[in-house]
Amino acid sequence: MNDFREELDALRQQGLFRSMRVIDGPQAGRVILDAREVLLLCSNNYLGLADHPLLKEAAICAIERYGVSSGASRLVSGTMELHEALEARLAAFKGTESALVFNSGYAANTGIIPALIGKGDVIFSDRLNHASIVDGALLSRAKFIRYPHKDMAALRRLLAETDVAGRRLIITDGVFSMDGDLAPLAELAALKREYGALFMVDDAHGTGVIGPTGRGSAELCGIMDAVDVQMGTLGKGLGSCGAYVAGSRDLIELLVNRARSFIFSTSLPPAVLAASLAAVDLVDSPAGADLRRQLARNTSLFRDSLHAAGFNTMGSETQIVPIFVGEAEPAMEFSRRLLAEGFFVQGIRPPTVPAGSCRLRCTLMATHGQDDLERAVTAISRVGKEMGGT
Ligand SMILES: *Cc1c(COP(=O)(O)O)cnc(C)c1O
Repeated sequence: MNDFREELDALRQQGLFRSMRVIDGPQAGRVILDAREVLLLCSNNYLGLADHPLLKEAAICAIERYGVSSGASRLVSGTMELHEALEARLAAFKGTESALVFNSGYAANTGIIPALIGKGDVIFSDRLNHASIVDGALLSRAKFIRYPHKDMAALRRLLAETDVAGRRLIITDGVFSMDGDLAPLAELAALKREYGALFMVDDAHGTGVIGPTGRGSAELCGIMDAVDVQMGTLGKGLGSCGAYVAGSRDLIELLVNRARSFIFSTSLPPAVLAASLAAVDLVDSPAGADLRRQLARNTSLFRDSLHAAGFNTMGSETQIVPIFVGEAEPAMEFSRRLLAEGFFVQGIRPPTVPAGSCRLRCTLMATHGQDDLERAVTAISRVGKEMGGT
């Protein structure tokens, strides 16, 4: 009864057992794994900021001045100058009245959604939205409707035919985390206006990376003003840790009063806040634009070479480049063989992606060398052929 062995064995038999690998040293383009240097193709540290000198210096200075902990949740005594400074900087960056920092993207989504939406309300959510959105929706106890991925005709139909006593919330990833494609934000913004819905975009993979000035997928689509709740994370493109929501002053005040993951959790520590602040300044500078250009170059090179070798990259339009495999076991075998050749790429299985759509998920970094990426594509092609075609 209380023995977990059977459950673990079942996971192993289905090829769904997961375990962790330990990286030695910083999250760079090449990392040390099991005492061997490998090319890191599965980090969300897209701009290489996780060990950037400016972020490290900011974090060290903050520790010297403020210590290592915030000591309490924000509403108790855990609000420091650095929280306010980071929130003001994020609001300016996103062009909103206000912003609020959360401890992680997962905490943000599971806090924000139930704070804004409840019984009698309806959530319209893309089927491929991140697990933290699904969990936030389930916590809210609102009716939860998932529309087929990016299918605007289906969403319009659902909006038209669903009786709603309270609020409607349309929610989407800006960049889909496992597919690397972009949400149709302009169409979603039009539907939001037509049906008087609240509109929330989770830009975990877009913040700092996507859009002419790195303000995210809404900037790229020219609809920043249409997004009521702009959520993003600080631990991916920004190279730090945590998350934010940007929006109206009223939205932020309501979240301060209602979002349980904000209220009941010790706030982010000084080093993380200072590093995040330095990261926003950096992505909002010419140096940030250079990093985005380098990332775009690396992404094109890698994706074009994969296409030329006959791989299916599943509609990727960003630095996230999946390679379609299908079943779990071959996806994991592919990943194992690449690691043996010095390329660290994760295989992605259910429940992260739907059954039958297992894949290798490759992520590019601005700090990858182009020769390294060419070697990676050569290895991927060779292993793909050995495994019986692509
Ligand atoms: C990674 C991710 C999150 C969670 O963010 P963390 O800061 O890692 O908790 C939320 N939403 C999306 C779309 C993500 O990819």
